[in-house]
Amino acid sequence: GIRVEQLNKFFGPNHVLKDIDLEIYAGETFCIIGPSGTGKSVLLKHIVKLETPDSGEIFIDDMPIFAQGQGAVARDYRYSMVFQSSALFNSLTVGENVGLWLREKRVCKEAQVREIIKQKLEMVGLVGKEELRTSELSGGMKKRVAIARSLAMNPDLILYDEPTAELDPVTTDELANTIIKLKESTRNTTVIVTHDLNFALYISDRIAMMHGGSIVEVGTPREIKRSENPIVRGFIYTTT
Ligand code: ATP
Ligand code: MG
Repeated sequence: GIRVEQLNKFFGPNHVLKDIDLEIYAGETFCIIGPSGTGKSVLLKHIVKLETPDSGEIFIDDMPIFAQGQGAVARDYRYSMVFQSSALFNSLTVGENVGLWLREKRVCKEAQVREIIKQKLEMVGLVGKEELRTSELSGGMKKRVAIARSLAMNPDLILYDEPTAELDPVTTDELANTIIKLKESTRNTTVIVTHDLNFALYISDRIAMMHGGSIVEVGTPREIKRSENPIVRGFIYTTT
């Protein structure tokens, strides 16, 4: 699991993360919701070490990931992030995008790479699409390819930043069902940043609501829906 303790981050005078305490259990699907500019993406970036905190620590399986010079930094913990833009290589085919990491790192033999590509594409509902150019794909398909590419790394932890941005409601529902199915087959810990409340309520085991750089509430979808916290109520009211 992931434990965030007293995390603080400043960008100049801008106090972006304020004493963040958070626990994400191994194997759960955890959504971080909240309005624009509240620090959701910055928090996610800390978990994958794309940002360093000014104070505080994140523990992955009880190992601190920022502690310097202690030799105690979490090792062999594989994480993979699906970015909002999908960040695919347009000059490559779908299969080449999915197999890129495996081939670069020479993780396994070519025949096995092909097998893994096939398998991961199947998991996201893109059977037989290996040869398509990514430039020919819809936004929803691109997202699926990006997920398949992440899965190829066999991550323990998979993170998504705004996976439903730019997707229409039907494609959003399909993506939600794909993420739920994946959770059943991979047992990954999944962390998702979204401002799509209905999506979060549908797919999450638990949800954290962020506001102004702080976590204001953590609970199951049921608890979030019933929350009496005025900030949570306000968010539910304005987004549904
Ligand atoms: P959105 O829903 O719009 O994606 P968010 O909750 O993800 O919003 P963040 O991207 O985490 O918001 O940004 C939080 C705050 O930190 C914002 O005020 C933003 O301008 C600031 N910020 C984020 N990254 C940087 C950076 N690299 N340098 C300076 N300020 C930054
Ligand atoms: Mg963001």
